Amino acid sequence: MGRKTKIDWCDSSWNPITGCLHGCPYCYAAGMARRFGGKIITGHDHLYILDAPIRREDGTINPYPYRFDPTYHKYRLKIPQDWKKPQTIFVCSMADMFGEWVPDEWIDQIFTACLAAPQHRYLFLTKNPKRYPRAALKNILVAEDNFWYGTSTPRADDPAFWSRPSQEGRYYHTFLSIEPILERFGKSSAHGSVALTDWVIVGAETGNRKDKVIPEKGWIMELAEECDKRKKPIFMKESLRALMGDDFRQEFPWK
Ligand code: SF4
Repeated sequence: MGRKTKIDWCDSSWNPITGCLHGCPYCYAAGMARRFGGKIITGHDHLYILDAPIRREDGTINPYPYRFDPTYHKYRLKIPQDWKKPQTIFVCSMADMFGEWVPDEWIDQIFTACLAAPQHRYLFLTKNPKRYPRAALKNILVAEDNFWYGTSTPRADDPAFWSRPSQEGRYYHTFLSIEPILERFGKSSAHGSVALTDWVIVGAETGNRKDKVIPEKGWIMELAEECDKRKKPIFMKESLRALMGDDFRQEFPWK
């Protein structure tokens, strides 16, 4: 459901889709869905569509009735229209809205819901950015000033970064989200892609995972220097505040 969020680069999150099949080992969303979803109602690896919320025995809404299986909560589509105050909304913080398993129809309907509430800024984020240009070719992707398309990559040489397609002759705002940063980016391809995007977000892994990666300050400084060189804003998440000390910065690409 829509809610205030602890994610420091947006005001709210809105989850018309929950669940994801990428299986990242550091996924906080999967843990939350398992914790709050309760018992599994039915099977796995299936797409679920809900026209109305499912309630628990005590009458409260179960936000993850199928835990982390992809679930389209159609009844949530009007939520942004109900929020009159303009805000920056992270769309599908508990899913990957551009995972290969998500039907075009769901994406299209969510964009339509966003367009119906133009007072907000919408941030999308995926680990499957190759879906963006495909959606652009199908005329599904929206090139509005308040739509921002993010690529999430914790690894330096992930080749799937997407900046913006030129074949459409439209401008799509993009950003690169490196959270959690799992290695030094150095002079890698992702490091070079800073030049192509409008904004860089970087954060450290949180939680207590056994193989948790603690970043070095030098990794972040290199990224910040590249952003300065390219005149791109960089947003360091709270998880980096202590590590970065006086070099900690939280910049946005909008006023
Ligand atoms: S892509 Fe995001 S939501 Fe999906 S498993 Fe990975 S961290 Fe979790």
